[in-house]
Amino acid sequence: MSFSDTKTASLSSTCQRRQLVSGVIAGGVAAALWSTGATAGGGEAILQPEVPDDAAFIARAFKLRNLAVALGDQPYGAVIVRKDVIIGHSHSRVVVEHDPTGHAELAAIRDAARRLSERDLSGAIMFSSSRPCPMCEAAAYWANIAEMKYGSNAASAGKPKLCG
Ligand SMILES: [Zn+2]
Repeated sequence: MSFSDTKTASLSSTCQRRQLVSGVIAGGVAAALWSTGATAGGGEAILQPEVPDDAAFIARAFKLRNLAVALGDQPYGAVIVRKDVIIGHSHSRVVVEHDPTGHAELAAIRDAARRLSERDLSGAIMFSSSRPCPMCEAAAYWANIAEMKYGSNAASAGKPKLCG
């Protein structure tokens, strides 16, 4: 875990977070870090961790974060987990897909819902490399996600609320 990971994870203000993003220099992380061998969201099977615990899920979110950086995107990753199974995942897609709403958490929710052909993700936990922004928290609320966990220590951000 590098200093920048810790710093990113500790920032609670969205404004601080976005300012940090603008200062991050992308690159330098080999795509080989990504163990599933494919860009997330393409519909391929998701490699599941050998030990399905919080540490493994948050580690996967950080792998996606590193993949985002390697792709030249913003340094965020997220996975959606239900019953100890990763049902959706994504790295940030804001830059590579020219989508201002392409945050990792939002994209991971969409990925899970599409994979399950189900818009209701009740009982799921969202793990993300940084604390979700208000847009992503609202998306988690609408998806009925039960809890958000973030950062290198998988700190709980509680149940998603619609208005912060
Ligand atoms: Zn967001």
